[in-house]
Amino acid sequence: MSFANSNVATDSLPNSVEDKQYDAVVVGAGVAGPAIATAFARAGRQVLLIERSWSRPDRIVGELMQPAGVKALCELGLAQAVANIEAMTCEGYYIKYHDRVVQLSYLDKAEAATGNPIKPVPDCVFDDNDKLITDSTLSSKDWYDHPTVQGLAFHNGDFLMNLRAIARAEPNVTCLEATVTGVVRDDNDVVVGVRVKAEDVPAVYRAKLVVACDGIYSKLRRELPAPAPSVESYFVGLDLHDCDFPAPGHGHVILGDHAPVLAYQTTPTTARMLCAWRSTKPPSSSGGEFANYLNQQVRSELPKEIQPSFDAAVASKRFRPMPNQYLPAVKQSRQRGFVAVGDSLNMRHPLTGGGMTVALNDVVILAKLLHPSQVADLGDHEAVLRQMAVFHRRRKPLDAVINTLSMALYALFAADSPSLRILQRGCFRYFELGGACVSGPIGLLSGMLPFPMMLFNHFFSVAFYAIWWNFTDNGLLYAPVSVYQSVVVLVVAVRVFVPILWAELAR
Ligand SMILES: Cc1cc2nc3c(=O)[nH]c(=O)nc-3n(C[C@H](O)[C@H](O)[C@H](O)COP(=O)(O)OP(=O)(O)OC[C@H]3O[C@@H](n4cnc5c(N)ncnc54)[C@H](O)[C@@H]3O)c2cc1C
Repeated sequence: MSFANSNVATDSLPNSVEDKQYDAVVVGAGVAGPAIATAFARAGRQVLLIERSWSRPDRIVGELMQPAGVKALCELGLAQAVANIEAMTCEGYYIKYHDRVVQLSYLDKAEAATGNPIKPVPDCVFDDNDKLITDSTLSSKDWYDHPTVQGLAFHNGDFLMNLRAIARAEPNVTCLEATVTGVVRDDNDVVVGVRVKAEDVPAVYRAKLVVACDGIYSKLRRELPAPAPSVESYFVGLDLHDCDFPAPGHGHVILGDHAPVLAYQTTPTTARMLCAWRSTKPPSSSGGEFANYLNQQVRSELPKEIQPSFDAAVASKRFRPMPNQYLPAVKQSRQRGFVAVGDSLNMRHPLTGGGMTVALNDVVILAKLLHPSQVADLGDHEAVLRQMAVFHRRRKPLDAVINTLSMALYALFAADSPSLRILQRGCFRYFELGGACVSGPIGLLSGMLPFPMMLFNHFFSVAFYAIWWNFTDNGLLYAPVSVYQSVVVLVVAVRVFVPILWAELAR
C-alpha cells in the first residue's frame, strides 16, 4: 500500500510505519476518546488511543456533568469514572437575578425516564460497572434513592484520569503518548492512519478507522467539511476555596447587568467560578482590567456567602480565560476511514454545561451503530458511512436542544441591549411561575427531555411572557412604547433563536 499525505513527503514514510493495523486509532484522551476506545475494545476491536499528554490535566472546562451525561456514562459501563474523586452531586440550579432568587430542581426520575430512558451499549456493561459506588463524597444508596435525576461536579483532571485508567485497563486498548499532526491517506483518498510527532516511536500508525476526539482546538477537524468555529465570548475561570454556597448541591447562576457568572462546588473544599466576558477577545493578561470589572460590576451582585472566597480569588489574580465557541455538527457522509466526535465535531456555549453530555451521548450512539453486530469490519467504509448518516440523524434531538438552549440562554443572560434585558427579566419571571415553566426548561437543559419542539415552545412562551410583563411594568401611560418594544423584542427573540435551531436541525 502506498500512502499519500498532503502534509508530508510520502517517500519518507515506509521506515517509520508501525506494522500493525488497528481496527481504530482514537486521537485524544479527553472525555470522548477514552469512552469510545473502551466501547470499541469491549466489543472486541483492537484500538490505539493516542494522547499528547497522559499527565493529569488542570483545565477549567468539563466540571459539571448534566444528568443525561451521567446516564450516558452508565450506558457505557463507565459510571465508576466518577468514583474516588470527591465528586459532588448537583440537584439543580440556584438562580439569582439582582435581589431575587429562584431554585430549579432536576426532573423526577419517572418523568426523566419517559423522555430519555437508559439503553446500555452492547458488551459495555458488566460487573455493575454501570453503577455509582459509595466513596468519600458519594453515597450509592442516596444516589439511587433520590427522587430526581442528578448531575455531578468534579475536577475535570481527576475525572479524565479515571476515564483514561478504565480505557488503559482494557486488554484491547494500546495507549501512546504522542501528538497527532495529521491523517494519512491511501491513493484512493481513504484515511488509513495518522501521523504523529514523538520521540522513539513510529511516525505513522495505521487503522481501518481514525476517530478524532481531539477537542476544542482540533487539528483533525479539517478532514470534515466543517465551518470554522465562531468565538462569541469568553469565560474566565476563578478557583474558589472553602466557599459557602447559599444552596449547597446546586449550580449557582448570578444574573444582573453584568455578564452571567456560574459557580459550583467541584470537591468539598474547592469550587469553580466561571465569569462571562462579553468580548470576542480575552481580558488583558495583566489581570487588572478584569479584576476591576469583577470588583466594580460583579461583586455586589454575588450572594454574601460567596463573597469572601471570591475576594480571595480576585486578589490572587489567577484568571484563566477560555473561548466560548460555537460549531454546528456537519454530516459525516463523505470521508472514508475517518469520523469525529466530541468538540472536534460540535461545540456550543458552556453556560449550560452541556458539552460532556453531548460528547458522551455521541459516543453511546456511535458505539451502538459501529458495534460488530452492525458493522462487522470497520474497514468496510461504505457500511461505516451508512451508519454515520444514521448517527447524524440520531444525535440531532439532544444536540439541537442542548446547543440551541446554551446559545439562546447566553444571549438572554448576557443581555447587552434593552430588548434582551426585557427577555432576561421575562425568563427569570417565567422560572418563578414554577410547575411546567421549570420542569420543561430544566428537563431540556439536563438533556433528559431532548425535544426541540418543546424548546421552541418554552422559548417563545418566555418571549410572550416577557412582553406581557413589560406592558405591566411600563403601565397604561406608556402603552404605545410597550407596543413598539414588543415588536422589537419579538424580532430579537426570533433572531436569537431561529438561526441556531435551524442550523442545528437542518444541516
Ligand atoms: C470554559 C468552558 C467550560 C466548560 N464547562 C463544561 C461543563 O461544566 N460541563 C460540560 O459538560 N462541558 C463543559 N465544557 C465543554 C467540555 O469541556 C467539552 O465539551 C468536552 O471536554 C469535550 O470532550 P472532547 O473529548 O471532545 O475534548 P477534550 O475533553 O478537550 O479532549 C481532547 C483531548 O485531545 C487531546 N489532543 C488534542 N489534540 C491532540 C493531538 N493533536 N494529538 C493527541 N492528542 C490531542 C487533548 O490533550 C485532550 O486530552 C466547557 C467548555 C468550556 C470552553
